[in-house]
Amino acid sequence: MYDVVIAGGGPVGLFLACELALADCSVVVLERDSDPHPPLKALPLGLRGLNAGSAETFHRRGLLEPLLKASGIDAATVGADPAADRAPGPRSVAHFAGITLDAADIDPAVTAHRLPGPAMDGFMTSLAAVGEVLTARAAALGVSVVRGAGVTAVAQDDRTVTVTAGTTRLGGSWGATADAARSAGSRTSPSPARPRCAPATSPRSPSPTRTRCPWASA
Ligand SMILES: Cc1cc2nc3c(=O)[nH]c(=O)nc-3n(C[C@H](O)[C@H](O)[C@H](O)COP(=O)(O)OP(=O)(O)OC[C@H]3O[C@@H](n4cnc5c(N)ncnc54)[C@H](O)[C@@H]3O)c2cc1C
Repeated sequence: MYDVVIAGGGPVGLFLACELALADCSVVVLERDSDPHPPLKALPLGLRGLNAGSAETFHRRGLLEPLLKASGIDAATVGADPAADRAPGPRSVAHFAGITLDAADIDPAVTAHRLPGPAMDGFMTSLAAVGEVLTARAAALGVSVVRGAGVTAVAQDDRTVTVTAGTTRLGGSWGATADAARSAGSRTSPSPARPRCAPATSPRSPSPTRTRCPWASA
């Protein structure tokens, strides 16, 4: 019995697992792909742009340098300054479907919570590089990642979530689906009054900012 069972070992599932492990939760990630280096996640098809906010998130966890390295990028070329002692000013923030968001349109007051960190504009990486860094982090934090475990069903009652992957059945106090499109979570049995399994991107997701795990059963 785990505190949290996560379906899907992509960037979202792995990052969530690491955050939960930091909060002393026992976590297992069930990943459908048995190959830890699937060709679709490697270059060229796995190429992804990481925006500045995501880069900062990696920085907060001490993962920016390993990610730049795994992405084959020299930190100096993307303006990363690990020694920066104040929050960077507005800059290029992101794009949506190729439409660039102008940093000048962003009100700095809404990012008042930002902490000192490397000023940079994001960079190109790959799903493989992100996976490599987060998988190593997950292992270091004691997260179990089970590969070749495609989740086929998620059931829940008022106390537990039961996740089925082939012949494997795992129980958790809570569950999160991070298996992207056609999520197994969409096949979850009708929710009890207080759902125990939620999509990792939903506002109902376990909050990674908590310092203690409120979901542990005992
Ligand atoms: C062509 C393309 C270009 C993109 N470019 C960008 C970009 O430049 N920048 C950017 O930020 N985003 C980009 N995206 C989006 C980005 O890839 C996703 O936002 C990101 O991968 C989402 O991460 P995730 O962990 O939610 O899902 P995924 O990366 O899809 O990971 C889901 C994981 O769940 C596993 N899984 C699936 N079903 C099951 C199951 N039933 N049981 C267990 N495991 C399962 C999968 O094998 C996979 O490992 C792009 C997407 C595409 C398709």
